[in-house]
Amino acid sequence: MIENKYVYGPVPSRRLGLSLGVSPIPGKTCNYSCIYCQLGRTIHLTNKRKMFFQVGEIIGEFEKNLQSPLEFDVVTIVGEGEPTLYLGLGELIGEIQKRTEKPVAVITNGALLYDPAVKSELSRSDIVLPSLDAYDDVSYKKINRPHGTLNFSDVYLGLQSFAEEYQGQLWIEIMLIKGVNDDDAALNKYSALLNDLRYDRLYINTPLRPPAEPYVKAIDHEKMDRAVEILHGIAIDLLHSQGFHSEITDHYTAIMSIIKRHPMNQFEIEGFLKSRGCSGIGAILDDLKKDSKVVSISYKGYVTYRLK
Ligand code: SF4
Repeated sequence: MIENKYVYGPVPSRRLGLSLGVSPIPGKTCNYSCIYCQLGRTIHLTNKRKMFFQVGEIIGEFEKNLQSPLEFDVVTIVGEGEPTLYLGLGELIGEIQKRTEKPVAVITNGALLYDPAVKSELSRSDIVLPSLDAYDDVSYKKINRPHGTLNFSDVYLGLQSFAEEYQGQLWIEIMLIKGVNDDDAALNKYSALLNDLRYDRLYINTPLRPPAEPYVKAIDHEKMDRAVEILHGIAIDLLHSQGFHSEITDHYTAIMSIIKRHPMNQFEIEGFLKSRGCSGIGAILDDLKKDSKVVSISYKGYVTYRLK
């Protein structure tokens, strides 16, 4: 684990695997102040893009990190705030891509997707993960508490037009909060919005870390199941080991029994084994790679295992 000013990790991410983070934004600088934000309330609420740091400075640190034998699957641009507020975002993505073959992902609240410059810069990345937490202006103000210049309609239309043009992977996330946006009426409104969007994946999340506001609570499993049913998304809290179960006590045999029906990527296998208290995860992954009955498929840094 390396700690620097701009580059951090690699850290395990439930959606992205082992993620090397790059943060081009000063702490708590955002155009939202979401009630569920794990950073606490936004201190610098702004909707003005700025060159907070020089691209060369960030890239210099990134290069130093690459010199050590780092294992990571993806480079994720994610600030302690909103990364699209960084005016050097497009250049930063391009410079990172010159230095690694690994995919570059950007985690964003999506608020600035109505801005053609932001759309064009984000289009350089391999994966964009925008949020869609609200379904109208009232819920937008209640959940995201945006900067006064933002309104829901512009943000949704921006996301819609970006989705139509973007050539990479678009993974949308909805954060569901108990008693705020988790009833059937709200889910049906999300469903209608999603019907008019092109995207590759939908993740349904709920706040699992301490939120900015104490009244924010995670939804329960029943509500999550209902949301998955209505929205046809992937529950983030099920992404790791919880998504895979086996009664077979031998770890290797248990994995073989799962991948017979359902391919697992390396992170799912790691999470699954960790949840079982397995201490020899590396050896099991090595054995899977050597196993003639197993095919391992590597794509952009992810290795997925399935039975031949
Ligand atoms: S958009 Fe992200 S960083 Fe900004 S307030 Fe919301 S959760 Fe926090």
